This record gives sequence, C-alpha cells and structure tokens, in this order.
Amino acid sequence: MSQNPKRITILGATGSIGASALDVVAAHPDRFRIAALAAGSGDAAMARLVEKFRPERVAMGNPEAARRLRERLGTDGPEVLEGTSGLEAVAAHPTDLVISAIVGGAGLLPTFAAVRAGHDLALANKESLVMAGGLLTSEVAARGVTLLPIDSEHSAIFQCLMAGRREDLDHIVLTASGGPFRALSAAELKHVTPEQASHHPNWNMGAKITVDSATLMNKGLEVIEARWLFDLAPEQVRVVVHPQSIVHSMVAYRDGSVMAQMGTPDMRPPIAFAMSWPERVALPVSVPDFTELASLTFEKPDTERFPCLALAFDAMTTGGTHPAVLNAAGEVAVAAFLAGRIGFTDIPRVVAETMNTHAARPLDALETVLETDRQARATATRLSAQPARKSA
Ligand code: NAD
Ligand code: MG
Repeated sequence: MSQNPKRITILGATGSIGASALDVVAAHPDRFRIAALAAGSGDAAMARLVEKFRPERVAMGNPEAARRLRERLGTDGPEVLEGTSGLEAVAAHPTDLVISAIVGGAGLLPTFAAVRAGHDLALANKESLVMAGGLLTSEVAARGVTLLPIDSEHSAIFQCLMAGRREDLDHIVLTASGGPFRALSAAELKHVTPEQASHHPNWNMGAKITVDSATLMNKGLEVIEARWLFDLAPEQVRVVVHPQSIVHSMVAYRDGSVMAQMGTPDMRPPIAFAMSWPERVALPVSVPDFTELASLTFEKPDTERFPCLALAFDAMTTGGTHPAVLNAAGEVAVAAFLAGRIGFTDIPRVVAETMNTHAARPLDALETVLETDRQARATATRLSAQPARKSA
C-alpha cells in the first residue's frame, strides 16, 4: 500500500482529545499527516506541536496567544492566524478530515467552516450539534461530506449500527458512568467542591466535560448529540448508568436483539476509528480482561439528584433554540462553579432558571443560534451571581 497519508486538521489540538488524536497520528505516520492546527490560548503547548507536526497553518482563538506564538516560532514558522476568523480559516484549509475538538460553543463556527469548505468532519465538539443540530446536519447533507462521531458512546452506536439495517432499529441506549458522585445523597451533593468534581473515576478529560460528567449534563448533551447524529426521534434515545464504562453504548433492534460495543475506557480507539473509517488501525490499547472484571452493572439514572439529564431531555423535546439555551447556561454555570462563585447543585438551578426565562424559537439560521447563545449566557451570568434561594 503506497497511498499518500491522509491529511488531518485538528481544532482544539492542545486539549485532551487533541492530544489523543496526535498520538494516533504520531503512531501511524504512513497513514496520517497534520495539515493544520488550532487552539485557544496555550501558545507554549502549540509551539511544541508545531515543532513536532509541522502544520502548514495554525490559529489561536486568543489574539494575544497568537502574538506570543509568532514570537516563539520566529520567521520560519507557519502562518499563525487569530480570532474566530483565524479558526475558521484553519478549518477551511485544504485537508482530508477535520477533527473538531474545541470545547464549548467556541467550536460552533469553526465546525461549520469545515463543513462549508467541503471537508469530512470527525466531531468531538458535541456542543455544536446541541446548539445547532438540524442546521449542522443539513449543511453536512448539502455539502455531501461525511460526519463521523468521536464521542465514545456515539462511536459505539455508529459501530453497532453497522450490524443491522437502519429500518430494523428500535432504539439506542447510551451508557453513563454516573460520574464520581453517583452514590452521594442530595444533601451531600450540595458540598461538592470544584476540586472533587475535577476528577473522573474512569476517563481523563478536559475540565468542562469532567464537571459535566459529574452533573450528568454531559450525558444530557450526548442524548441531543445522538438524536442529530443518527436522526432519531427523542423517544428512541435512552440512558442507563453503567459505572464500569466497559460497554460504551448499545443499539436495540426490533427483534429484541441488542448490540453492545465494548472496550477499555480510552479515547484513542474512537478517535482512530473516525480517522481511519471504514478501516481500523493497530493501537497499543489493551482489550478488557474479562476474567478480571468483577462485574458489569447497570442502573437507572436518578434525575432527582442529577436534574441536568432531565433538563436536556426537556430541551430536546421542546426543540428549536432550547438546546442552545441549555448549552450556554451549562457553560456559564460550570465556569461559575469552577471559579467558586456558585455551588455544585446551583449548576442545574442556573440552567433550569435560564431555560424558564427563554421562549424557544425555531432553529432557522445560525444567526438565531448565536443570538440565543449570547442572550442565554447573559441570563445565566446574572443568575450565577445571585445566591441560591433558601430552601425550607
Ligand atoms: P480540553 O479542555 O482538554 O481542550 C479544549 C481545546 O479547545 C484546547 O485545545 C483549547 O485550547 C481549545 N479551546 C478552548 N477554548 C477555545 C476558544 N475560545 N477558541 C479556540 N480554541 C479553544 O477539552 P477536551 O476534553 O479535549 O474536550 C474537547 C471537546 O471534545 C469537548 O467538546 C468535549 O465535550 C469533547 N469530548 C471530549 C472527550 C474527552 O475524553 N476529553 C470525550 C468525548 C467528547
Ligand atoms: Mg462521551
């Protein structure tokens, strides 16, 4: 086989997903090479990646970081762009596949730019599907590009769907680890600290998704992500808590047959599968030792203690701009929690109250999404500054 290596662009290259994707590139230089890279503000980390992977173009969302990166790289470095337009230019740079792995709503416009440039998309940035699901999937269809999931649950569903005909599908089951506070009482949850919420029992991830995993907001976002990725009706998406994170998700067919995809909790397999689909590449990832696993358990999610999951189902059912409100309020609330301004159980409060003050509008244009995002952030910021109402 003497094909040219596949050109890969990574948005969010300095993050946790970015690092795993670059691991896969470095392990298979015959199959993959980096075309362009983008990140937010980590110029020192980006300088190391430029040195190692030699991208043709780079962008930093933060203009100050872009300036520092230009200084670090000197005159023979690649072109360094900045701001949202710079991220969009990197997304549109000639490539074979764009890995969208910026965290949060900041990933929305660069993700659209990649699709509009006609590039295949491997999506980790679930927030862009949550905010603008129907718009993004229409754009993908209109441009005739391929949209591949990176999120481990969605990669699992994607793989399980390969086992049957689409018309025979009944529903999907997303697994959730339940996060580090699965066993805490409602009263104990009130005292959870940012430090405690920043460690996940099974996965090593960025700060925001780690807190989202502890509140079950991450699963809520994934429910909406799945609805759009696989064109499902809301009632076809179910969630089960599976603390061991070995079964990554399941698909149930109409004859009662259930396909499950399993593996050790490691993001490299789903990332590599999105990069090499429909082929698979060898990875230094061990298969679970089934004789060592004491048990695989499954339980119902508790939306009383973890209301964010129920709020996400509400947002999905209401539709329109409601999921964008959920997402914006969630981002603001998590940032306020990490900064010590609100408590852990204030996160669902801020999200619920923000959703209550916003009437859902039809998802007619990207501008509507951006405007909703701005308004919901302003509301959630105000609500995050208020102390929680005293409960009796
Ligand atoms: P992270 O915090 O480790 O990395 C985030 C990346 O985004 C960094 O490169 C950062 O520089 C960049 N970034 C942040 N703000 C930016 C901005 N304003 N402009 C441009 N770039 C910006 O996050 P992560 O854990 O790698 O997660 C990335 C995305 O992947 C998220 O959407 C997350 O939900 C999703 N995801 C992550 C995992 C995981 O295991 N980490 C699993 C599934 C899905
Ligand atoms: Mg996931």
